[in-house]
Amino acid sequence: MEKPAIEGGRPVRETPIFYGHQYIDEADIQAVTEVLRSDFLTCGPKIGELEKKLCALTGAKYAVVCANGTAALHIAALSAGVGEGDEVITTPITFAASANCALYCKARPVFADIDPETYNIDPAKVEAAITSRTKAVVAVDYTGQSVDLAPLMEICKRHGLTLIEDGAHVIGTTYKGQPNGSIADMTTFSFHPVKTVTGGEGGAVLTNDETLYQKLLLYRSHGITRDETLMEHELDGPWYYEQISLGFNYRMTDIQAALIISQLDKLPMFRARRQEIVKRYNEAFGKMPELFVQREIPESDTTRHLYILRIVPEKLKIDRRQFFDALAAENVHGNVHYIPVYYFPHYEKMGYKRGLCPNAEKLYEEIISLPLYYGMSDEDTESVIEAVKKIVDYYRV
Ligand SMILES: *Cc1c(COP(=O)(O)O)cnc(C)c1O
Repeated sequence: MEKPAIEGGRPVRETPIFYGHQYIDEADIQAVTEVLRSDFLTCGPKIGELEKKLCALTGAKYAVVCANGTAALHIAALSAGVGEGDEVITTPITFAASANCALYCKARPVFADIDPETYNIDPAKVEAAITSRTKAVVAVDYTGQSVDLAPLMEICKRHGLTLIEDGAHVIGTTYKGQPNGSIADMTTFSFHPVKTVTGGEGGAVLTNDETLYQKLLLYRSHGITRDETLMEHELDGPWYYEQISLGFNYRMTDIQAALIISQLDKLPMFRARRQEIVKRYNEAFGKMPELFVQREIPESDTTRHLYILRIVPEKLKIDRRQFFDALAAENVHGNVHYIPVYYFPHYEKMGYKRGLCPNAEKLYEEIISLPLYYGMSDEDTESVIEAVKKIVDYYRV
């Protein structure tokens, strides 16, 4: 049930706005229809073309595109050798897939707390969580701001761990001038429609390591190879291939790949517009003591995938839930990213308890994701700001 806008007055916006929306143009539609008229709907030329393009974008030596970002995390964890009895350290402030990839491999996710101001995983907490069973770290570039990769890489190197960067939010961002995707042992991307670049569904793993690359290829496609040098038996004929390990069908279609290729041409434009909107939000909200603006680290040239409005509870008469409802009454429909992963019943049943990561739990109580996407107009942006201001002014203590 929708509550009326403050004092029963008119909502700031006449029409609803939501937190994310894809942007598809005629070039995208044409790219997809060209594939539909071609010989290959899957396993065709668009796959290699997209992989090349992702390598060019990130500077990574190898790219393996796959069905979605979750599949990318799964094959990355398998390629890192994550298996039964191992531990994988990750953040609780992420989409469940960042932790589920450890469960898929029969390993145990271990949650390390976030930095209270950047909201990214705290490298000191990662180091404190390492045990003899730790195999990998899944570090998430939350909202599109790069995790502080330098200390994480140093820690992983010292302890012999694989660093998997869950870069679902980070496409187009650089860390210390180097594109995310070419830095960690493996970086995964997602092309879900709420992400900066979409293929409907889609994912990718980037790496500079040839051994990991070969494993990723096998896990993506049933563990099957046509590479004679990898085969155990004699080539039986031109049809012959071998399954040399147990992989999956995590392939991407050429339809998705063509859409992503076309979308990537617009990445500079997507980036610029998102940065403009974020700048406006930061200018407006930075002046308001009732709100806390996410701290930016200078190492990350951030393109935000999400904009997080954070309330300072002591300075407002309402809590996050009431703020969220008040925004909805103004026709501004936010979201919350994320519920700490270990709050979910599936995790509770495995023994995870609340209280594990206090910074993450506090963040979760105070945040709302505001609309942020390429197609937002200046009027949309200003109306969101106006709605937030209206609520803050009304409920200020
Ligand atoms: C979207 C997302 C994923 C999963 O990607 P899918 O393509 O939806 O499977 C993983 N991690 C994070 C942080 C995400 O935002």
